[in-house]
Amino acid sequence: YIELTDITKSYHAGKNILEKINFTIEKGEFFVLVGPSGSGKSTLLRMIAGLENVTDGILKMNQKIVNHLPPKDRNLSMVFQNYALYPHLSVEQNILFGLQAKKVSKKEQKKRLKETAEMMGLSDFLDRKPRQLSGGQRQRVALARAVVSEAPLCLMDEPLSNLDAKLRAQMRVEIRRLQKQLGLTLIYVTHDQVEAMTMGDRIMVLNDGEIQQVGKPITLYNEPANLFVASFIGSPK
Ligand code: ATP
Ligand code: MG
Repeated sequence: YIELTDITKSYHAGKNILEKINFTIEKGEFFVLVGPSGSGKSTLLRMIAGLENVTDGILKMNQKIVNHLPPKDRNLSMVFQNYALYPHLSVEQNILFGLQAKKVSKKEQKKRLKETAEMMGLSDFLDRKPRQLSGGQRQRVALARAVVSEAPLCLMDEPLSNLDAKLRAQMRVEIRRLQKQLGLTLIYVTHDQVEAMTMGDRIMVLNDGEIQQVGKPITLYNEPANLFVASFIGSPK
């Protein structure tokens, strides 16, 4: 479904931030991207989103080359660390924001809003402004906005990093459930080993712009490709 071939990124002429990255993601897969700060996770996600140019290599979605396709034509949704809710808009307006550009009928918008708000436990908050919500509720609004778009691909960059441990645990389960229920293809960036190990169908470990290993959580745990993966995943080896 998503195919990266020799993807390279440099911001200025000079050092490559990402060096010949090759991997594919299947439809409906929960694909987790882990690695230390500065390893290139967000850059990779932003290239897939179309928010950042690919310096070299081929990026395909559904077998089509999308290197130069603008973000709005990539049929994906994004949830980033700081949620990026619009402070002056209500919860309802925030959730529906992306749909207005897509020419979805008012009736259809209402229907999707109702379903999604119920699913995310937000039905009682639709008239509030983001500042009148708790962090976890805000996070759910950001997720609802992604879900309501019905985009088949969702990109999440450390979406739970601002939450406390308890909420984080709840949201992990919630995201995982939604992803399976909707059959979403999800690329999920995290620093958190527990998140990676418990949520991912597969995990990719990145260090300094290079792939260390891609595999199922159990494989990375039992058969880490190198010491870096072993220490990052926390396996006994
Ligand atoms: P973190 O876990 O801290 O979010 P990350 O893995 O997401 O890190 P990136 O944000 O992808 O890392 O950054 C990878 C490298 O690219 C870093 O060395 C960073 O300084 C550099 N970088 C990121 N954005 C730019 C930019 N717009 N211009 C120049 N260099 C950049
Ligand atoms: Mg980042």
